[in-house]
Amino acid sequence: MFFTTKLDRVDVVVVGSANADLVVSVARRPSAGETVLGSDTRVLPGGKGANTAVAAARNGAAVSLVGAVGDDPYGEFLLKSLGSAGVDTTRVRKVTTPTGLAFITVTPDGENSIIVSPGANSALTEADVDLGDARVLVASLEVPITVVEHAVALAARSGVRAVVNLSPVAELSPDTLAVLDPLIVNEHEARALPGFDCSRSVVVTLGARGADVVTPEGTRRIPAPQVDAVDTTGAGDAFTGALAAHLARGADLVAATEHAIAYAARSVTHQGAQPPRVAPPGK
Ligand code: ADP
Repeated sequence: MFFTTKLDRVDVVVVGSANADLVVSVARRPSAGETVLGSDTRVLPGGKGANTAVAAARNGAAVSLVGAVGDDPYGEFLLKSLGSAGVDTTRVRKVTTPTGLAFITVTPDGENSIIVSPGANSALTEADVDLGDARVLVASLEVPITVVEHAVALAARSGVRAVVNLSPVAELSPDTLAVLDPLIVNEHEARALPGFDCSRSVVVTLGARGADVVTPEGTRRIPAPQVDAVDTTGAGDAFTGALAAHLARGADLVAATEHAIAYAARSVTHQGAQPPRVAPPGK
């Protein structure tokens, strides 16, 4: 039996990736041709889309993920963990391509190196996008760009607020950029943008410094609380999910950003992009 979780009502539809994160701690990374021994492997639920969906659910939204996983134990693990976080998985399609995997090595200085094998995430199609009666669409770019552009166009036609987290950086069409409210970028991604007037609004996340909210009225800096950061993996996804949940509830962009900063700051004080709730395959 394949595991699905269904909600009666959906506030936020997330279009994005679901990956199993395979995390190994190493004293140092191998150079070419070399082998090093690492720790036992930790298997954690991840992927920008799934992380965002879980963050939106934790912020009180009824959330559905549009995504794809393989017909394999990692796919089952991801569906169960999404379901246990309260995310509707009826829009997650099971495909013959293997579940997306992220191979992550962590060194004692806390730095991550990541290889993503997109797998099933690449099999997502425009036909998979179903916004139902959602108020907010959120998309990120670990899935085909054509699917993101289609989802945004559909949202614009249906009066659904469209939010895109431009991560990893991709070149969206001017038509897509024009309707985003907001486009979310971090400081590095911001450098790849044509200009700050490309979307209805832009939020630039600034790590420990908080975020800038850029609207036609001007730019407003919202600071982050000081926290002891343990692991900043997925901070942008936590921010994006929380922002979408508060927008769906009717908050204005500045208020939603304040909530998102508070939530993302808390998220960096523990390990992992999502706290795991279910045992990984083989446990
Ligand atoms: P990304 O994860 O996409 O690189 P950022 O590093 O800008 O994005 O982080 C996104 C948000 O997470 C920030 O706007 C902030 O709210 C929160 N955050 C990230 N790092 C820290 C930190 N060290 N202290 C407090 N908040 C943080």
